[in-house]
Amino acid sequence: MRINIAIDGPSAAGKSTIARRLAAKLGYVHLDTGAMYRCTAYKALQEKLDLEDEKAICAMLKNTKIELTPDGKVLLDGKDVSHEIRQDEISLAASKVSRHPQVRKDLVARQQQMAAARGFIMDGRDIGTVVLKDAEVKVFMTASAYARARRRYDQNIACNIPTSSIEEIAKEIEERDYQDTHRAASPLKKAEDAVEVDTSDMTIDEVTEAIYKLAEPYIAK
Ligand code: C5P
Repeated sequence: MRINIAIDGPSAAGKSTIARRLAAKLGYVHLDTGAMYRCTAYKALQEKLDLEDEKAICAMLKNTKIELTPDGKVLLDGKDVSHEIRQDEISLAASKVSRHPQVRKDLVARQQQMAAARGFIMDGRDIGTVVLKDAEVKVFMTASAYARARRRYDQNIACNIPTSSIEEIAKEIEERDYQDTHRAASPLKKAEDAVEVDTSDMTIDEVTEAIYKLAEPYIAK
């Protein structure tokens, strides 16, 4: 049976890395919903919109195409922005635009449409609580603030993305965590039926295996 898997958690907990691995192992499609909020913020900044202006951002979204390709690229209106949207400035801007309920409504509808066929692993902040409430497997992935900053720093270096220091990244992550957990619209929180996995002292393989084990009984059906 093909199922949907929801992975939520705070910034830089390793959600996308694990989701990608798991998708390859299961032959499923990985959807990084954070990339959609990042594209929204990126385009809004390019168009010099006020990030507080929900109406203007929603109007912009009406004429915006966001594609997540099977090989992990992010296309915004047909242009590859995979690198650009990973900059620290865009991370905070994404957190800002994601506070707007109408922006969320637009992107959530797109996400639900994409995953309707099942066989998806979606990672974000509201997947288990809003987007895929009926996902068979829900994981809430956490890690200590230091482990998360360290990983994001290493990832930036490995991917040639201009990076701030670990301390600065930790500050940015904390700020985003605060914004994401305290917003009124779909704040980051663990779904009641989600399994919490603290990845601070786990390797990528161990986390992938742990989630695979959760999915196995459903897949075997
Ligand atoms: O996952 P990532 O760090 O790329 O997400 C960037 C920002 O987008 C998050 O800090 C969060 O504010 C927002 N986001 C969200 N809901 C999602 C995915 C991301 O609000 N499902």
